[in-house]
Amino acid sequence: MTAQILDGKQIAQQIRQELKQKISTQCITPELAVIIVGNDPASEIYVRSKEKACQEVGIKVDTYRLTPDSSAEELINLIDELNNNHSVNGILVQLPLPKHLNPQEILTKIKPEKDIDGFHPLNTGLIIQKQPSAFIPCTPKGILRLIHNIKHNLSGLNAVIVGRSQIVGLPISHLLLNENCTVTIAHSKTQNLAEICKKADILVVSVGKSEFITKDYIKPEAIVIDVGINRTPNGIKGDVKFAEASEKASYITPVPGGVGPMTIAMLLENTYEAYLKQNHS
Ligand code: NDP
Repeated sequence: MTAQILDGKQIAQQIRQELKQKISTQCITPELAVIIVGNDPASEIYVRSKEKACQEVGIKVDTYRLTPDSSAEELINLIDELNNNHSVNGILVQLPLPKHLNPQEILTKIKPEKDIDGFHPLNTGLIIQKQPSAFIPCTPKGILRLIHNIKHNLSGLNAVIVGRSQIVGLPISHLLLNENCTVTIAHSKTQNLAEICKKADILVVSVGKSEFITKDYIKPEAIVIDVGINRTPNGIKGDVKFAEASEKASYITPVPGGVGPMTIAMLLENTYEAYLKQNHS
């Protein structure tokens, strides 16, 4: 058996088309402010693709560039200014920040209603409480959308999440728990990882280790979501050994072209939703 490909690129493109249509028929211009501190080359690439995606759907995007040695105070002052600017609907601080800046401290300064990345502790709490007003972080939101594309009712399924990061592992665990999955979170101290993964009807891997998950970790017919983006001498690889995992899974996301494009589509959707919340409440 060969798994069907969960084509994130195509699904994301459809979401972007629909958003473009909505924004144009409603004659609105949601606005996103992106802050980038320093000149990390990977961050530059991510920011450029976010800018391009925003422009394509009719979201105005302004990028603010701070030098690598900027102080926390300078960054927080800029965030304050954008918090108080009524034409700005969403604020995104591109991560990672330079070492001397504490991301937790900085991200809590963004007004929760402009926190389109969903990293503010208030939004985290709202997700745990199953409140629909929460901004859900873009990658987990995109993962859930991909899964719902093939299966709507996830109740009772075993979901195993490998990785417990604040931006992917933890929030997707809560989202799948809210969908009534039985959720297991695995991490670097987990023992018998393969045995645990082999029980997963839904396996989400967000570890950052190239081709770490082999076919021996996969339950036949599982849905496998590979979040990893690993730059290797052989090109960009996921956290899952794609070819052999495809022999066992029912659905699998490719890397690239799976979760990545969905993350950007969800950023656009969150910015649009921020506009609606701020203008219709
Ligand atoms: P982090 O790098 O923050 O953390 C990695 C997680 O993996 C940790 O929880 C760690 O456990 C766990 N881990 C490490 N080694 C093992 C192991 N041997 N067995 C089990 N668990 C292990 O994770 P991120 O979620 O931020 O990123 C993961 C990957 O996803 C990266 O490649 C990143 O580039 C990619 N990514 C892709 C996105 C997309 O849009 N496609 C978005 C965000 C990330 P512990 O907590 O114990 O240290």
